[in-house]
Amino acid sequence: MSYSYRDFIFGELQELEQQNLVRRIPPVESGADKWLQYDGKQLLNLASNNYLGLAGRPELKQAAIDATEKYGTSSGASRLISGNYSLFDELEQELREFKKQEDALVVGSGFTANLMILSTLADRHTVVFSDKLNHASIVDGVRLSGAKHVRYRHNDMEHLAALMEKHADAPRKLLVTDSVFSMDGDLAELTAIVELCERYQVLSVIDEAHAAGVMGKGRGLAAELGLSDRIDVHMGTFSKGLGSYGAYVAGKSDIIEFLRNKGRPFIFSTALPPATIGANLAAVRLVRSEPELGERLGVMAGDVRRFLQQLDLDTGPSQTAIIPVILGENEAALKARDMLMEQGIYVGAVRPPTVPQGTARLRISLRADLTDADLSHFKQAVSRMVDSLD
Ligand SMILES: *Cc1c(COP(=O)(O)O)cnc(C)c1O
Repeated sequence: MSYSYRDFIFGELQELEQQNLVRRIPPVESGADKWLQYDGKQLLNLASNNYLGLAGRPELKQAAIDATEKYGTSSGASRLISGNYSLFDELEQELREFKKQEDALVVGSGFTANLMILSTLADRHTVVFSDKLNHASIVDGVRLSGAKHVRYRHNDMEHLAALMEKHADAPRKLLVTDSVFSMDGDLAELTAIVELCERYQVLSVIDEAHAAGVMGKGRGLAAELGLSDRIDVHMGTFSKGLGSYGAYVAGKSDIIEFLRNKGRPFIFSTALPPATIGANLAAVRLVRSEPELGERLGVMAGDVRRFLQQLDLDTGPSQTAIIPVILGENEAALKARDMLMEQGIYVGAVRPPTVPQGTARLRISLRADLTDADLSHFKQAVSRMVDSLD
């Protein structure tokens, strides 16, 4: 390695160390299960996006095994070359019906899907309106597109309206937003957003990563609010509530046809493996037959938020099963996390730059497979933690 690179990398790492911001992969085992092992200790897992517990369901496991038996472990090529198989077509058909959209395309991951959607639908003649708290993959997708990146203050509709007015004459305009924000667990102001997009003729793109499988009987927030027909591009992932891996884009057939033809992260990447597509198909079918799973999670989240607020904890604007407990300093968040871990509970401690300076937090993600006993164990642990923080 050249000296200049060695100096650069050493300097950067040293800075992270000094600010207490070095990221380390935790020594966990079975991170999607309700119970995980951390350094050999068994902990209740409230740090996973497996919101419905689907990743452990026999229906998904069996579907993955069956698909592997039939097709092997790899698809062997991009979909457009020889990587396709009929499970893909079944899955996309299932998605068209489920999402009530003309067409759907399955792609590698949520991150890849956002790179594809934004770099294909936007270019340097496009203005992209994007919520300041949108996911990193959206930010990178906009950068890759070369579009003019216009970020509005989180969920601030007056700010968005002013920016749309300012850019009213741009040749092409696109808006992109998470539907559920991953660090605060709050919801996009979708009704207002859709109205603004219609008024200013802006193409609307929604990322339902944290809502897919969970909200709107599994169809997402847009469906829950009755806005599906008024949003142009619906993206969602199989990697969170749906308990598997990969992502989909659904919408009008001309848009999906365009992505299939021009979306480089789709064209130049190997199709997802059979096990994954088998599990994805089983997940969508399961959610369609058990829509009450997501509803149970919503009720549980309301109860837990009320409990935390009664302890004077700051749960921010959360409205979902993602519940932050905002503590401020990095050390406070790490200490709280460790105290819960000592009592058998595993939650994430999220620090800048993932969240703004001074808002370090615990991030609790609830899951539909928690029992009443699990929840009282959790509440007791939090009460003890609060007592010893004081
Ligand atoms: C997790 C997430 C992604 C990325 O999805 P992966 O399937 O994990 O790559 C994209 N957008 C949002 C809003 C997410 O939360």
